[in-house]
Amino acid sequence: MSTRLILATRNQHKVTELRAILADAGLDVELVGADAYPEIPDVPETGVTFAENALLKAHALARATGLPAVADDSGLCVDVLNGAPGIFSARWSGKHGDDRANLDLLLAQLSDIAEPHRGAHFFCAAALALPDGTERVVEGRLLGTLRTAPAGDGGFGYDPILQPLGETRTCAELTADEKNAISHRGKAFRALAPVVKDLIA
Ligand code: IMP
Repeated sequence: MSTRLILATRNQHKVTELRAILADAGLDVELVGADAYPEIPDVPETGVTFAENALLKAHALARATGLPAVADDSGLCVDVLNGAPGIFSARWSGKHGDDRANLDLLLAQLSDIAEPHRGAHFFCAAALALPDGTERVVEGRLLGTLRTAPAGDGGFGYDPILQPLGETRTCAELTADEKNAISHRGKAFRALAPVVKDLIA
């Protein structure tokens, strides 16, 4: 019988992405999202690093369900801002999840910064926690530069202003498959597959 693994997200795209990666790695794992356990409340992200937040969410879910649990936490890190918005990416403008306001504020803050100094990366920490407290964290990065104006209709968040290294398009101009192949989350999830294999599959 396959092992059940729960991913701490209500975002079905993330579930589909990790499920495909685990299947590609040949793992016999049944991955479900947090929606499968609607009675379990979301955990406040009180950590000060991506890894801490991912671990908080994974441990809470593993404790509550008795299942091995995966959680990810990600954001945009801008070189000239010493890594900000970082863990505050989703609420940089003050209001949680207002992608357009977050992006507009960031562009305004960087308006005097010339192209050679506009380096940035998306970062993702992915954590696996077991009900007995065992934990592992892996990470992934997508390096790029920030445009001065948004371009593209795809993706979400800061995708319209992050141009991956070696690309002429922004993340919002890539197809979902193109983005998943190079993304911070794709890299972190792919790094997690052998860890899942070692510990539970
Ligand atoms: P989460 O941890 O996946 O919920 O991401 C937190 C925030 O980081 C999002 O609300 C976005 O602002 C930003 N972010 C994370 N990943 C991406 C991405 O792939 N593209 C654009 N923005 C992202």
